[in-house]
Amino acid sequence: MKKLAYDLVIIGGGPAGLAAALEAKKNGVQKILICERAPYLGGILNQCIHNGFGLQYFKEELTGPEYASRFIEDVENSDIDVKLETMVMEILEDKKVIAVNRKDGMVQIDTKALILAMGCRERTRGAITIPGSRPSGIMTAGTAQSYVNLEGYIPGKEVVILGSGDIGLIMARRLTLEGVNVKGVIELMPYSTGLIRNKVQCLDDFDIPLLLSHSIIEVHGKERLQGVTIAEVDKNLKPIEGTEHYVSCDTLLLSVGLIPENELSNNLGCEMDKVTRGPVVNEKRITNIPWVFACGNVLHVHDLVDNVTQEAEIAGKAAADFINNKMNKEEKDVIITHDNNIGYIVPQHIDALNNTEQMIKFFLRVKNPDENVRLIVKDNFDKTLLNFKKSIVEPGTMVTFNLPREFVTKDTSSIDITISKEQA
Ligand SMILES: Cc1cc2nc3c(=O)[nH]c(=O)nc-3n(C[C@H](O)[C@H](O)[C@H](O)COP(=O)(O)OP(=O)(O)OC[C@H]3O[C@@H](n4cnc5c(N)ncnc54)[C@H](O)[C@@H]3O)c2cc1C
Repeated sequence: MKKLAYDLVIIGGGPAGLAAALEAKKNGVQKILICERAPYLGGILNQCIHNGFGLQYFKEELTGPEYASRFIEDVENSDIDVKLETMVMEILEDKKVIAVNRKDGMVQIDTKALILAMGCRERTRGAITIPGSRPSGIMTAGTAQSYVNLEGYIPGKEVVILGSGDIGLIMARRLTLEGVNVKGVIELMPYSTGLIRNKVQCLDDFDIPLLLSHSIIEVHGKERLQGVTIAEVDKNLKPIEGTEHYVSCDTLLLSVGLIPENELSNNLGCEMDKVTRGPVVNEKRITNIPWVFACGNVLHVHDLVDNVTQEAEIAGKAAADFINNKMNKEEKDVIITHDNNIGYIVPQHIDALNNTEQMIKFFLRVKNPDENVRLIVKDNFDKTLLNFKKSIVEPGTMVTFNLPREFVTKDTSSIDITISKEQA
């Protein structure tokens, strides 16, 4: 088996992997390798030809490929090595990465540190239960996006979309622009699960109906999909008898959630968060394995790529500190707790003795939508560290905030985050 040695290996050449590599380089890491299984860098952004990327990070509106190209150019102009069409198969406990590609066959790469940046994948029909036959014409929204935007195929003439995740909303608009009859988006929950701006710009602006609290209870057709039966659901998400109706369509797109691509992290023994389904990390995005870092959609599913880039820069800088022996020798763990309407928070714990950054960046998602709430951060002495108003919170939009490092002292043992209705 061919053997290579690097200071830092990054798995995944999407926006997370690219930004992490550049940040590690900026912080003095000499030999960096990005392994990417696709024939090109840029990850999922290559098929996202709509605009809406980079508003926060570059303060301008870019398409996905434009956003990615800025990082790809910087990587190409650096001495960061890239292996394309290279699939990482296994990570071994003794800091070895096993990858495979057509040119080298199996390769063993020794490394000092590793950044997981493998992104996420879409839930498919197998992950949800839709009774009925198995005709062609049923696919994930991301598959349809790649057919239309990368390969130039239209998946069908009459489309129904199940799930109001961002990819489904974006595909509703994209297919409408291509002349397809998009009959509607069916959402099980009583609210849209994508970004508000995507609901407005992709559905409302094109008069595409969004049926909330509805689901598909049967698919029809043998060779090719012919239609679906839709029904309203009650508050327990069970179909309500008598509300069924038939909608003819030849294509059903599923936009029913994304799952971090974590088989490698799991097999390596990373401690996983049951909600995010990504590794548990501290504020430096270090997993429970000291030489393994994680960022981007492999850690938790992000709505905006700008947040992915910022998180990847944290992981890249931390990996550089680890490689250059600049990490604190001692650590003091501060546990992050939260109330019931918060689904998850990343990082899940922080190190009270780490003083390398001025700000600790938090990402969270709420379980249910709410208006006029206050986000309150308190320490174990019940001291309020942050208290600010949010006019709207909803599950589709990630909430981000920074906690100044100086608010965490060596006596802090836990930090509690709540989101509750503002008192009148
Ligand atoms: C349809 C869609 C629309 C979006 N629209 C917007 C928008 O309008 N605005 C916005 O800001 N954000 C948007 N986003 C979100 C943003 O694009 C993603 O959050 C971001 O691309 C995630 O970056 P990543 O690097 O974590 O993952 P990815 O981009 O998925 O990259 C992961 C990479 O890892 C590689 N990989 C995985 N496993 C392996 C392995 N074992 N070996 C080697 N390589 C591997 C994959 O091939 C992939 O290239 C959208 C996302 C989607 C899917």
